[in-house]
Amino acid sequence: MRDRPRVRMAPSPTGYVHLGSARTMLYNVLFARAQGGRVVLRIDDTDLGRSEPEYEQAIFDGFHWLGLDWDEGPDVGGPHGPYRQSERLDLYREHAVRLLQSGAAYRCFCTPEELAAERAEAERRRRPYRYSRRCLVDPPRYRQEFAVRLRVPEGETTFTDLVRGEIRVENATIGDPVIVKSNGWPTYNFASPVDDALMEITHVFRGEEHLPNTPVQLMILDALGYRRPQALIHLPVIVGKDRKKLSKRHHPEVRLGLYQELGFLPEALVNYLALLGWNPGTDQEIFSFEELVRAFDVSRVQRASAMFDWDKLEWINGQYIRRLSDRELADRLRPYLADLPEETVTAAAPALKERLPYLGRASELLAYLRTPPAPPELDPEQREMVRAARERLEEVDWAPGPVESALEELRRERGWSRGRLYTPIREAVAGRVSPPLHYTLALLPRDEALARLRRAAG
Ligand code: GLU
Repeated sequence: MRDRPRVRMAPSPTGYVHLGSARTMLYNVLFARAQGGRVVLRIDDTDLGRSEPEYEQAIFDGFHWLGLDWDEGPDVGGPHGPYRQSERLDLYREHAVRLLQSGAAYRCFCTPEELAAERAEAERRRRPYRYSRRCLVDPPRYRQEFAVRLRVPEGETTFTDLVRGEIRVENATIGDPVIVKSNGWPTYNFASPVDDALMEITHVFRGEEHLPNTPVQLMILDALGYRRPQALIHLPVIVGKDRKKLSKRHHPEVRLGLYQELGFLPEALVNYLALLGWNPGTDQEIFSFEELVRAFDVSRVQRASAMFDWDKLEWINGQYIRRLSDRELADRLRPYLADLPEETVTAAAPALKERLPYLGRASELLAYLRTPPAPPELDPEQREMVRAARERLEEVDWAPGPVESALEELRRERGWSRGRLYTPIREAVAGRVSPPLHYTLALLPRDEALARLRRAAG
């Protein structure tokens, strides 16, 4: 069925999941869901030395955590399997043979040393390196080990990228690429288009860094007589505040697992990622998943690099936290506050809601429940305030509402400003950071709160 789109996400299990992969997956899913299409998860594990099963699991877990599901894949099966490239080697071999037989590919017997020498020579002459085609013209007869190279045809390759428009490449600028390595494994540029064709992929979404690979992949499809995908969509790179591409070395925030660990809500991260390279053309910033499915439009994917903005992500996450019911927030907080009793977490949820940028910060805001602060240094007036507050609090019902009313009454009676009164009380019971003061007090057992006030001011 050509009319229902089929998209694929094709991650390589060579490390932790990258934020950019999460975004590519999201755009694939949004596009497919809007059109009633199907999402294929294909594992590009042809990089033998670097692919690990645990990284594959991390991909499944990461996408599941975000709520991004696939219809076909190594774990769920499907009619176009297997979905791991390492299990499709026969298919690549067959296709390589077809290309060899038609003359679209040839065997290359050059040794790594010979190729290195060619490259060094090109460098010496300050020319861009392209394979010399020595083995096409005059292959050495006595050697056994070979790689397979695509014979790049004459002319030019043109295609339309939905983000970047029409792209034209002079084929003469491309050296004949290796498509099967001497160990028999396919290269990415060969396995990927073969699978895209066999899996009947209609729309290819991937990062902009793959744009230079596209002409070769299209040449391979053309040479095999396969249909090209209906559309290619290269997504803008994601850059950090330093305007450099997000990378493992310089940007810890590139790791998807970080957000799970810190306690970002997956639905908030999805919302943020949707806007990281796409805009709806309106001021709307908070989108439910269903709204994203309806609003997402490939023609509004931007060409310019997408700037990762931590503050905006925190802001969006905060919006989602504030929209949770107290109960839901308590449930989500529990894993991050595993050392606190359940009732405390339940009682703390409304207190934390207004201030929490992500769930993992709760622990720090509630640290005073575990360890009392050092008694603060107070001036005589502050001591008087803390003492008066303690006396007043000895009589009230121990809950946030009555505590707040009692303190408000006290400060009106004495003409103290809120800031003047609240600061020493907070320092006495909690230290510098804590939830709003009436919650800060009420979350502690009354005796403990009063004892801390007494310790600070007598
Ligand atoms: N395995 C490639 C990657 O992770 C896939 C690129 C593509 O989508 O073609 O970058």
